[in-house]
Amino acid sequence: MTILALEHCDLLIVGAGPAGMAAAVAAAPSGASIVVIDDNPAPGGQIWRDGPGAALPPAARKWREALERHANIRVCSGTRVIAAPAHGELLLEDAVRGWRMQWKKLILCTGARELLLPFPGWTLPGVTGAGGLQALIKAGLPVEGERIVVAGSGPLLLAAAATARAAGAKVVRIAEQASLAAAAGFAVKLLRWPGKAVQALTLGDTRYRTSSRIVAVQGRGQVESVLLRQGGREVQIDCDRVACGFGLTPNTQLGQMLGCALAPADTGAPPLAVDALQRTSLPGVYAAGECTGFGGSERALAQGTIAGYAAVGNERAARQHEHERARWNAFAAQLHRSFALAPDIRQMPQPDTLVCRCEDVPFSALAGCSGWTDAKLHRRCGMGACQGRVCGDAAQFLFGWTPPSPRPPLSPARIATLAGLAVHGNDVDRQ
Ligand SMILES: Cc1cc2nc3c(=O)[nH]c(=O)nc-3n(C[C@H](O)[C@H](O)[C@H](O)COP(=O)(O)OP(=O)(O)OC[C@H]3O[C@@H](n4cnc5c(N)ncnc54)[C@H](O)[C@@H]3O)c2cc1C
Repeated sequence: MTILALEHCDLLIVGAGPAGMAAAVAAAPSGASIVVIDDNPAPGGQIWRDGPGAALPPAARKWREALERHANIRVCSGTRVIAAPAHGELLLEDAVRGWRMQWKKLILCTGARELLLPFPGWTLPGVTGAGGLQALIKAGLPVEGERIVVAGSGPLLLAAAATARAAGAKVVRIAEQASLAAAAGFAVKLLRWPGKAVQALTLGDTRYRTSSRIVAVQGRGQVESVLLRQGGREVQIDCDRVACGFGLTPNTQLGQMLGCALAPADTGAPPLAVDALQRTSLPGVYAAGECTGFGGSERALAQGTIAGYAAVGNERAARQHEHERARWNAFAAQLHRSFALAPDIRQMPQPDTLVCRCEDVPFSALAGCSGWTDAKLHRRCGMGACQGRVCGDAAQFLFGWTPPSPRPPLSPARIATLAGLAVHGNDVDRQ
């Protein structure tokens, strides 16, 4: 039986998005041995995702080069966390091998996922998340000449539309559920963050409509049109693709599996709880970026910097970035206020609309359930391939159910990796 290699580092960072990159660069001058792991093929996270269809901005290149300049930072791309077999240890796997990594300090920079909500037709081929469409285009999906409708809420809709347009698609509508007053109020408040105001101007689009909600996507076998409710009337728009995003959900799964406490959330899924030095409730474990609540790459960079300094004991340097973090926390708060989802978004699914698309569970089958566990045990909601990553977030929004902490393995894993772990006398189910 394969014996898994055991490696050690002073600081392990999970996630190489803006938060993870900034954490590693801040911690590096301490001389600590730093390992950054990320399941994507290259560092950059969601915003600076690489691929044949991606044009990396200068900021992304700057952070990548900064990582490369430090000999004590090792970046392991294409690497996933499978389990936490012992205290201070994670089980990792890449395309070639599984191995155990012992750490003295851990920083979770696991980012956020898109919130996908069910509506009639959302399972038709051609419907994706808004960020999902961006990722597909950057990975090389050809969309030239396609008519695309982007719908949902928040500035990510504009970013997704810009990515699609740059790839030659025709964006025929951007449907924002927030009201004109909310969107215009946000635009005015952006003057407090001039860089964001300039970015918003570059993303502006004459096809943008407020108070505009998705009703259904129609098509025989694939997307042919979308029905939107705009103000008081319904409009049908012919299109080839629909990309929708209803905001982001903090990716807290690894933190929850380790036992980190969650912070209370006014709306949406709760993020990982952190203190002023980005420490979680678990000693030696820090968290930064969108797993602590979504709010943009600048906030993630500031939080990552603080976490990196704090993890190597340089609290003085960490505290010097508190002002910057406060500035971007204020931006995040404004974003949440302006683009809060309207209660009637919960009425999008019809009784026969699938909520769990892996296991074909319709909305009507869940409406009578008492909670997530009931839905899982009696309706198979969340029992499929995505393990509740999509329908769990949707159920939280639709019914207010909080899915419990995930159990290992956190990602699908090779048998050899799990079997190798048994040789060390550990049992991943024991946690
Ligand atoms: C789909 C999507 C698209 C987005 N597009 C834009 C955009 O165009 N413009 C914009 O301003 N903002 C965008 N955002 C918001 C953007 O994610 C943030 O502002 C910023 O990237 C947050 O940085 P972060 O470091 O916190 O997380 P992220 O950038 O999300 O980085 C987290 C990283 O951790 C990795 N990871 C997570 N869990 C594990 C694990 N268990 N094992 C290994 N690796 C793991 C992820 O693959 C990811 O690379 C997008 C968000 C999403 C979800």
